[in-house]
Amino acid sequence: LRGVVAMDGPSGTGKSTVARRLADALGAAYLDTGAMYRVVTLAVLRAGVDPADASAVLRCAESTDLRIGTDPTRADVRIGDEDVAAEIRLAPVTQAVSAVSAVPRVRELLVARQRQVVSEARGRSGGIVVEGRDIGTVVVPDAELKVYLTASADARAARRSAQDAAAGRSSTVDATKADVERRDRLDSTRAASPLRPAVDAVEVDTTELDIPGVLDRLLGMVRE
Ligand code: C5P
Repeated sequence: LRGVVAMDGPSGTGKSTVARRLADALGAAYLDTGAMYRVVTLAVLRAGVDPADASAVLRCAESTDLRIGTDPTRADVRIGDEDVAAEIRLAPVTQAVSAVSAVPRVRELLVARQRQVVSEARGRSGGIVVEGRDIGTVVVPDAELKVYLTASADARAARRSAQDAAAGRSSTVDATKADVERRDRLDSTRAASPLRPAVDAVEVDTTELDIPGVLDRLLGMVRE
C-alpha cells in the first residue's frame, strides 16, 4: 500500500478487526483514533473531572502523556509508561467517551497528533490504515481510499456483546444495543466532526458478511 486507507463507521461494524487485519495483510501501519479519545476519557475519569466540563476536559487532554503504537498486530496504548489498552475498553470509559470527543478543542488536539502519525507513515513505504469516525471527512480528506462500514443495529449490538464476552466483560445484547444506539446518536449529532460518510467513501454493509468476507472486499479495492 502507498498512502492512506481511511476507515470510518459506527461501532460494531467489525471496523477495528478489519482495519487491523487489512493493515497487517498490506504491511501497513495502523492507527486506532478511537483509542486516543478513550485514553483522554480515562484520564478525565481518573482526575474526577466532569466529562461535560469542556475546559476541564481540555486541560486534562493537554496534560495527558498519551502514547499510541502503530503496529497492527498488537494494541500498544499507554499513559506515560502505564499500559491502559484493556482499561480503555471498560464500561466507564465507553459511557463517557462521546461527551469527551464532542469537545471541539480536544478534537483539534488529537487530530493534530493523528495527522502527524499519518505524515510520518506517508514518508515510509507501506502506508497506513487509519480507523475512526472522521478520518475521511476531517483527518485525512485526501486519503487514497475511504471506506465507510455500516451494519444493522442488531448485528452491531450482537458483535459488541460477543467481543465483551470474549474479553471476559459481562454484558447483555439489550444493554449493548442501547449503548451502541446512544453512542451513535451522540456521535452523529454533535456539532464538531459528526459521524458521517465522506462524499467519496465506499460504503460497505457488513450485516451479512463475516470478517474474511469484508477483508476480501477491501483487499480487492486496495489492489484495484
Ligand atoms: O472506535 P471506538 O468505539 O473505540 O471509539 C470510541 C469513541 O471515540 C466513539 O464513540 C466516538 O465518540 C469517539 N471517536 C471520535 N472520532 C474518532 C474516533 C472515535 O469522535 N475519529
